Amino acid sequence: MSSLRFILVLLISLTPFSSSQQIQETFHQCLSNIQTPNSFFTKNDTNFISILNSRAINLRFTTQSTPKPESIFTPSNESHIQSAVICAKKLGIHIRIRSGGHDYEGVSYTSVTGPTFVVIDLSKMRAVNVDLADNSVWVEAGATIGEVYYRVAEKSKTVGIPGSICTSLGVGGLVSGGGYGSLMRKYGLLGDNVIDARIVNANGKILDRKSMGEDVFWAIRGGGGGSFGIIVSWKLKLVPVPATVTVFNVPRTLEQGATKILYKWQQVAPNFDEDLFVRAFISRTSDKTLSTTYQALFLGRGDRLLEIMNAGFPELGVKKEDFIEMSWIESVMFIGAYPLNTPPSVLLDGKPRSLNYFKAKSDFVKEVIPESGLEGLWKIMLEEGSPFIIWNPYGGIMSKISESSIPFPHRNGILFKIQYYSSWMDSGMEDKYVSMNRKVYEYMTKYVSKSPREAYVNYRDLDLGINGESNVNWGINYFKDNFSKLRKIKSKFDPSNFFRHEQSIPVLK
Ligand SMILES: Cc1cc2nc3c(=O)[nH]c(=O)nc-3n(C[C@H](O)[C@H](O)[C@H](O)COP(=O)(O)OP(=O)(O)OC[C@H]3O[C@@H](n4cnc5c(N)ncnc54)[C@H](O)[C@@H]3O)c2cc1C
Repeated sequence: MSSLRFILVLLISLTPFSSSQQIQETFHQCLSNIQTPNSFFTKNDTNFISILNSRAINLRFTTQSTPKPESIFTPSNESHIQSAVICAKKLGIHIRIRSGGHDYEGVSYTSVTGPTFVVIDLSKMRAVNVDLADNSVWVEAGATIGEVYYRVAEKSKTVGIPGSICTSLGVGGLVSGGGYGSLMRKYGLLGDNVIDARIVNANGKILDRKSMGEDVFWAIRGGGGGSFGIIVSWKLKLVPVPATVTVFNVPRTLEQGATKILYKWQQVAPNFDEDLFVRAFISRTSDKTLSTTYQALFLGRGDRLLEIMNAGFPELGVKKEDFIEMSWIESVMFIGAYPLNTPPSVLLDGKPRSLNYFKAKSDFVKEVIPESGLEGLWKIMLEEGSPFIIWNPYGGIMSKISESSIPFPHRNGILFKIQYYSSWMDSGMEDKYVSMNRKVYEYMTKYVSKSPREAYVNYRDLDLGINGESNVNWGINYFKDNFSKLRKIKSKFDPSNFFRHEQSIPVLK
């Protein structure tokens, strides 16, 4: 930047902004020497809303009344991110960081607490470099996990990566909050499999694992996105997978004995062989009944899977005809709910399967829920508008990793995680669906973890509390005892709280 421009920007930064126009102009000016075409969008641009909504997954935060950023900057490389941070800090501009835009409460592209803000959107930074010899992959934060899966599978059929179930998530936010998928019982979370990272700190400096230090490296692998800096890229470990894996999707209605089957699932799914991941969905199929579906990934062939299922879970009554043998990348598509035989190359589009308005909450379960508890849940679910409920089994290696190994603390003793996911397609229905979601969550209180009632940070839930309120217990829900360590690290690494949002790690007072 020329010295004249620098002085101009500095002078402007010393006077408070009088208008959003001024913010746009000064931020724009400050970044002018690094802008490439189509990298800076202001509210005056005709394509501003389409750029803003291009990675805004929850339609709840795309309405006219949703607070919008003053501008969006889409960096193409590390130095662009550094400049954006330096300019924003100098000008006192609040930023939000967006990779895949799947944040449940939209904190990466809107702000309910902040005044004016700009979005740094990493959607142009999505390089994926697989190194089979080193058993690792460097991934830029704006890549979707589906792109990573595809690039890994392109190189080898017998390596995979323990990512997420949904394929359109950005790795920036996903890894920052832990990141689980159907390999979690065998290999843990993505956060457990990070080898190195590159991050831009609040002074605009790029740091890697060595220069950020082990404390910060610990905090960014599960402490939630948007608190410590802008992750530019992650180096992730590749893991072995068999050339052939087996999947199934088996539905069982209430009339087919779903209550007893789900009761048994709770006892067996967390104790199965680590090669087997069987999750359960519960959905209301009409106002009179509901259905449970058991979806599995087995790291092996169908004949061995049949033996395991018959020995441990005969109540489900699976048959060999229910199984499909396929490659690991095809299983990613199956578990990600793509129609059978969809070519994996669609993962390169990085697009979500669908968009809707939604509200979700999470729980962790430590004791088997009795059949009477399930029956009570069915009763509430049969009322109108109940959430879709997903139960993900824990156990396996998840029980062997210490609670403080990374900030994600939900480990030994957890049988399964619950997600209550309410979605709707008409903006006017929000109150109804959100209150039904809360009602089911309320009902489940006596059956789930207590003191704290544990929650998954990547299923962000602002009902648990927001910064600025005296109650920051949401941090205990997400991180248990790791929360105080996260706050200490935050206070040292970003004492001015430059990186912040409604549920970012608060500095110590
Ligand atoms: C449909 C759907 C399916 C999902 N399935 C799974 C699943 O299978 N497994 C799972 O673990 N989770 C799942 N999630 C939750 C998901 O992990 C989180 O929403 C995650 O934060 C998404 O990351 P993102 O980059 O797409 O989101 P964003 O909205 O871009 O970011 C989320 C948070 O991370 C911050 N952030 C983003 N990029 C960076 C960066 N580069 N540096 C620092 N901070 C950053 C943001 O500021 C925000 O606070 C799902 C979510 C949705 C909506």
